[in-house]
Amino acid sequence: MNDRMNVESFNLDHRVVAAPYIRVADRKDLGGAVLTKFDLRFTQPNVDALESETVHSLEHMMAEFSRNHSEDVLDISPMGCRTGFYMLMRGDHTPEEVAPLVEATLNDLLNASEVPAANEIQCGWGAHHSLEGAKEAAKTFLAKKNEWLQVEAAA
Ligand code: ZN
Repeated sequence: MNDRMNVESFNLDHRVVAAPYIRVADRKDLGGAVLTKFDLRFTQPNVDALESETVHSLEHMMAEFSRNHSEDVLDISPMGCRTGFYMLMRGDHTPEEVAPLVEATLNDLLNASEVPAANEIQCGWGAHHSLEGAKEAAKTFLAKKNEWLQVEAAA
């Protein structure tokens, strides 16, 4: 645990964070162009996790709807622990800047009547989805919007 690891989040003490939150997980200067990777944490690590179908639908919906609001989104991918997502963006961004993007994306999700691309042609497991689960998780995340920028629990 004392050795520094290659992956930024492996150096994060997941016991001290307080979900939900938006955190910069990495920032890379590619020589002129900068990429920023965000940790969008929905549930408390090692306490709660999203259902697999919920994660999958959130992934589809955030991937599709975030691009309604930004040209800079490169990728939104679920964490294997199912407690949140990584969002990769072109440019040097802060959590303050991307919070409105996340909010707009999740509001689109709440207004959607179906999960985009939830079929065998466009997805690797088209039946493995939950629109209701995604909406519930989005509502829970949005309800704590005022806590998004606070990553660690108050001392
Ligand atoms: Zn899929």
